[in-house]
Amino acid sequence: GFRMGIVGLPNVGKSTLFNALTKTAAAQAANFPFCTIEPNVGDVAVPDPRLTQLAGIAKSGQIIPTRMTFVDIAGLVKGASKGEGLGNQFLANIREVDAIAHVLRCFEDDDVTHVDGRVDPVADAETIETELIIADMESIEKRLQNIVRKVRGGDKEAVQQERLMKLALAALEEGKPARVVEVDDEDAKAWRMLQLLTSKPVLYVCNVDEGDAAEGNNLSAKVGEMAAAQGNSHVVISAKIEEEISQLDAEEAAEFLQELGLQEAGLDRLIKAGYELLGLQTYFTVGPKEARAWTIKRGTLAPQAAGVIHGDFEKGFIRAETIAFDDYVSCNGEAGAKDSGKMRAEGKAYEVKDGDVLHFLFNT
Ligand code: GDP
Repeated sequence: GFRMGIVGLPNVGKSTLFNALTKTAAAQAANFPFCTIEPNVGDVAVPDPRLTQLAGIAKSGQIIPTRMTFVDIAGLVKGASKGEGLGNQFLANIREVDAIAHVLRCFEDDDVTHVDGRVDPVADAETIETELIIADMESIEKRLQNIVRKVRGGDKEAVQQERLMKLALAALEEGKPARVVEVDDEDAKAWRMLQLLTSKPVLYVCNVDEGDAAEGNNLSAKVGEMAAAQGNSHVVISAKIEEEISQLDAEEAAEFLQELGLQEAGLDRLIKAGYELLGLQTYFTVGPKEARAWTIKRGTLAPQAAGVIHGDFEKGFIRAETIAFDDYVSCNGEAGAKDSGKMRAEGKAYEVKDGDVLHFLFNT
């Protein structure tokens, strides 16, 4: 599955957000830096009203949403790349995620200590980015030394790695994250293998007070400007509200959101933004037994999409009976779609579309 790491300075609200996401008390929120020492991992159901709609039409017995993994990564501080605070642990954990949700404190509260003694989310973002940039530079410099001999020996892979590392280093030395480097398709895989911290896609999460959840505030607006300038996205969330919502049932939660003037829970927006960031989309399998959502990368072909369900589906793939979501709904289900000629037989080269309802045929 796909993993999103929640990072940020201590006391910005990471644990509060993670708790709300996973509705668990495991990641204890407390007004104390370094309270989250081990990374906490939680699987979160991806909210998708289309799934409920499909299940209603097919009278499915069960609804199984697709899931996304969130990792609450222990507080990073200035000097982490030098092993201060929980530095090394942090860097190791961040290597293992696909994308980063960077939580920024956009609330004032004298009772909650800020590690640098002032509330400035843009400066906080820079602090963390700088640590990650330094960590990447150091890891590249080490690796460059280690492959010198292979490069001299003409090892093709090593030559490619060296070239990419130097490309990354040039950006990092200018104080830029590795994600600004554009690489060709043929280099894409080797580039990913470098596992640079600053090459991971990032999404800023502005944690605002309850009263600012609907409109945001000056601080979140500044983050918005920074994000836009970088070509990154941001979401405005009140971790405290999300924490409260997570303890309510669906009906109460909807009422509460309405009172606050919110269209949608912040967590739903966060998960959607994460999907967008990771280039993910959803397809469905629907029957009387269950309606289920599955996550794939955009551009995935039908056999690989089938492989998400089971390796055998991919190996023995014959074809995918495919109904677009809108057709499934307007024809009131599979039988209707078939009668109206809206059910297509798609082969190995078919690129699955977001919302497709699929039924795979395969050899065993
Ligand atoms: P972490 O260190 O980043 O994981 O931060 P926590 O989630 O433990 O939060 C640190 C403290 O800030 C806790 O006392 C939270 O209750 C508090 N906090 C979190 N979000 C908000 C918020 O939006 N407004 C206010 N006033 N306090 C918050």
